[in-house]
Amino acid sequence: MSHIFGRSTKTQPPVAVAGDGCYLVDASGKRYLDGSGGAAVSCLGHSNERVRAALHAQMDTLAFAHTGFFTSAPAEELADRLVAAAPEGIDRVYLVSGGSEAVEAALKLARQYFLEIGQPDRHRVIARRQSYHGNTLGALATGGNAWRRAQFAPMLVETTHISPCYEYRGRAEDESPLAYGQRVADELEIEIQRLGPDTVMAFVAEPVVGATLGAVPAVEGYLKRIREICDRHGVLMILDEVMCGMGRTGHLFACAEDGVAPDMITIAKGLGAGYQPIGALMTSGKIYDAIAAGSGFFQHGHTYMGHAMAAAAANAVLTEFEEHDLMARVRLQGELLQSCLTDALGQHPHVGDIRGRGLFRGIEIVADRDSKTHFDPARKLHARIKAAAFAEGLICYPMGGTLDGIVGDHVLLAPPLIIEDAQIDELVGKLCTAIDTALA
Ligand code: PMP
Repeated sequence: MSHIFGRSTKTQPPVAVAGDGCYLVDASGKRYLDGSGGAAVSCLGHSNERVRAALHAQMDTLAFAHTGFFTSAPAEELADRLVAAAPEGIDRVYLVSGGSEAVEAALKLARQYFLEIGQPDRHRVIARRQSYHGNTLGALATGGNAWRRAQFAPMLVETTHISPCYEYRGRAEDESPLAYGQRVADELEIEIQRLGPDTVMAFVAEPVVGATLGAVPAVEGYLKRIREICDRHGVLMILDEVMCGMGRTGHLFACAEDGVAPDMITIAKGLGAGYQPIGALMTSGKIYDAIAAGSGFFQHGHTYMGHAMAAAAANAVLTEFEEHDLMARVRLQGELLQSCLTDALGQHPHVGDIRGRGLFRGIEIVADRDSKTHFDPARKLHARIKAAAFAEGLICYPMGGTLDGIVGDHVLLAPPLIIEDAQIDELVGKLCTAIDTALA
């Protein structure tokens, strides 16, 4: 019997013993192609030499110095590098240990910011339905997944949810993508008015929705309209790039492609690439300055924040991106992945949509292509696809089924950014087999 308190009480997963590039190996010697980087984490694959060397060197120098007393060279370097690549105006970095911590920090520092500037009534958060922003209580309250929230209601943070920008299901045939994006963004204006502009603190969204919808990018113009609405009402715009950021879409920050600069960005997952737990909240100077001029103390913090080992790993990740020109490669391999998926599954009677950006792709499974109806959630198709793919030796990230009647089954792909052409073929071949096995 395993004493690990794992995610499922029903299944005992295999023991992973080694990582080798785009593959993981279990104790029986079986190899698994990592088609989703776990959950969009392992962007450099599993045995990157530069990161290993950086970690060894850092361990020999300094592992931990509490941020209540010290900063460290790798943490300073990381903050500089992130700011240099960030959207305009984002120039402060709050290093934490993961995505939920980053979102939690965003919520608390937003609240503190409004207290410092004398707007204490601003406490409400607006996010979107079918969204996930983490599992800690504030992040959970922000997310719009009805079933995840249900057991823990009432929530600590008062959040309401508007529609996501989900072209496949939301846009009418005779509506242009731009008109659709603006129409769905305008729900934010209506919601701010309904709640009372002086009570709204922040709007939170993923630029490309990951786990809950399956790599759904915002249409052109949507985020710009959101930015205008936030500016009009003094609401902070927080973009959660925990999954879609750090190069996944072919840009270090996904929102660069949308041409917008938020007030805060959260990142994690690919930043540590699986080698270290690390995340960051990045903010504009105005938030930092208001707090610095006020209490001068951030009402937030974690013991392991700014850890030197984690920062050293992240610096090595960024160096790998630069030295191998990985952002350009992601855009190229992303197009290849999209075209291979379209060739293999584009005419499949139960594949409704294949979408995404860079090496972040989603395949939506439908009962009927014309009506876009979902399969009965009780069939748990996403879980069957996951199991069938795993049996084939493919790790992918299917989700869906039981959400609140709106989200169906989809498969999220987020392979290592170093994936080769032949491995893309292998991934698509195994995925097709898994989908057909699950549907049989
Ligand atoms: N935000 C988004 C968009 C995520 O996808 C996730 C993790 N799936 C989180 C936040 C939470 O990150 P973590 O699991 O590192 O706490």
